Amino acid sequence: SPPQGYYTRGGGIGGSGDFITSPEISQVFGELIGIWYISEWIATGKPKAFQLVELGPGRGTLADDILRVFNQLSSLLSKCDVSVHLVEVSPKLSEIQALMLTGGKVQSNSEDSSAYMEGVSKTGIPIFWYRDIQDVPPGYSFYLAHEFFDALPIHKFQRTERGWREVLVDIDPEVPDQLRFVLSPSSTPATENFIQPEEKRDHVEVCPEAGVIIQRLACRIEKDGGAALIADYGHDGTKTDTFRGFRNHKLHDVLKAPGTADLTADVDFSYLRKMAQGRTATLGPIKQREFLKNMGIDLRMQVLLQNSRDTATHEQLLHSYDTLMNPEKMGDCFNFFALLPHHRLAQPDKKQELESKSPIPPVAGFGELVLK
Ligand code: SAH
Repeated sequence: SPPQGYYTRGGGIGGSGDFITSPEISQVFGELIGIWYISEWIATGKPKAFQLVELGPGRGTLADDILRVFNQLSSLLSKCDVSVHLVEVSPKLSEIQALMLTGGKVQSNSEDSSAYMEGVSKTGIPIFWYRDIQDVPPGYSFYLAHEFFDALPIHKFQRTERGWREVLVDIDPEVPDQLRFVLSPSSTPATENFIQPEEKRDHVEVCPEAGVIIQRLACRIEKDGGAALIADYGHDGTKTDTFRGFRNHKLHDVLKAPGTADLTADVDFSYLRKMAQGRTATLGPIKQREFLKNMGIDLRMQVLLQNSRDTATHEQLLHSYDTLMNPEKMGDCFNFFALLPHHRLAQPDKKQELESKSPIPPVAGFGELVLK
């Protein structure tokens, strides 16, 4: 809802808001993701240009950490034309992102321009803002969606003796200003279209908007190359009832005071995989603690700890590591999932292997780190 939606009104990300995300916990998170993209760029032969396309960039912290890595590796990227494309519906958050990434030096564009705002990052990289992924120009791109898909609306369904029914929201006739859940009396267009025929669960949540976006990403990667990295809390088609609200870091009744709390549902990665429709290969989901470990978080932490002199910074580093990695905290429930062009994972046959000087390098993060 443009006037009353939670995100269009600002979205409470951060310590003083409603929920906190990994990039807000530690800079290392974004740094390792930046390295993942560089590693994919090298593995695909260092194309002359790439776009970094982030969906739902929040406060812009993750993009800022990634751009810092790109800047530190500027000698490697010096001949590459890098641009950043942010897909964001919230006017308030796009202002915060502009401040974080450009220091506020942005210009608003006219209605007929595909980007509604543009500027240049503190490190000299052009940045564009859009409301929809379809407005982002085509081209070899690295896509990023961190805690984006869980924010998109879901349909809820329940299996009954008379077939599938949709869980709908109704106004309680008995209590003023009170919403309630009801079951549709018969099947609905959503029950007809969004439930997979082989579905085994009795309660299901489906996010068709996520399916549409994954289809678009898969089509773009199939056509122009690149990769998508998706990180979110979720499951592989096993969970049933995950829709919940957060306000001031506490669970909040989803039907109370709509628009004032973060509403979220776990991402069903099995559905995302299905929606890629075989246009790309998929990797994962893999647990956050495994992905970050494979990306070398321990080594990076050691360096930061060695470089920090005061005990407060030391403790803060250890605490943030624990929050990201501890299975009881974010380590197990957050997952990483990737879309890659098929040829990126294709196993060369023996003859090709002998002829080619450089075999296909493994995709970072999804297998154990091998230090050479
Ligand atoms: N990635 C950030 C923020 C996650 S919160 C982080 O990890 O900190 C979800 C983000 O998605 C917010 O920026 C919100 O404004 C944006 N968003 C929500 N619905 C959207 C939609 N339909 N299209 C584009 N952005 C959306």
